[in-house]
Amino acid sequence: MIKFIGFKKHTFSDEDMELKCDLHLHTNEDPKDKFITHSPQELIAHASKLGFNVLAITLHEKNCYKKELANYARKKGILLIPGCEANIEGKHVLLYNFTDDELKQIKTIQDIKKYKRKDNLVIAPHPYYFTKSCLREKLDSNIEAFDVIEYCHFYHKFFSFNKKAVDIAEKHNKPIIGTSDTHRLWQMGHTYSIIDAKDKNVKDIIQAIKQNKVQLRTKPLKTTIILQTIISLMLKE
Ligand SMILES: [Zn+2]
Ligand SMILES: [Zn+2]
Repeated sequence: MIKFIGFKKHTFSDEDMELKCDLHLHTNEDPKDKFITHSPQELIAHASKLGFNVLAITLHEKNCYKKELANYARKKGILLIPGCEANIEGKHVLLYNFTDDELKQIKTIQDIKKYKRKDNLVIAPHPYYFTKSCLREKLDSNIEAFDVIEYCHFYHKFFSFNKKAVDIAEKHNKPIIGTSDTHRLWQMGHTYSIIDAKDKNVKDIIQAIKQNKVQLRTKPLKTTIILQTIISLMLKE
């Protein structure tokens, strides 16, 4: 059973919609992680069965948002938000609702600030994990570039690298969001978020997230899933 971790608990309004969201997902169109086997359609169909209402496919350095795919998602009851996992100064940064031109222009963390708008969103993913691509100290020193801090799905009851992320979010009064960083479909559904948005559209969802109308739903991964993930990452197949 997934339990709520009461970080900055938001009181939901009856007028708003409670939307089950996962905004960090990869598919077999990913230019970097070529071992992924599921297609965007398979991911969307799977998420629909799990009751998700909002998804963002965030391939490494590629915006894969297409109208046809968004229409396919809509038929499955899912709103697709345009997004990608950019590599900026060697660090992963999740960017949502930026134009392709803007994505090309953003080369440094400073550049992100230039292109931030009311209707786009910047998330710091897995900021204190162990790979080189994690932001670490660059997050705290460039906090104005980021709207939200990610609560990473990859943790066990005996280890987690999320504590520092939660501390930094509290220090700077930033929302925290749960995602699955799915590379395998079985990774979905352990950590996600409920967003309390006025309506189910990109603008209202981004606004609700920035206003911290976010409930984190998470549970630690079982030892078998941790091992499965490590093995699949090592074999990359
Ligand atoms: Zn990443
Ligand atoms: Zn990722």
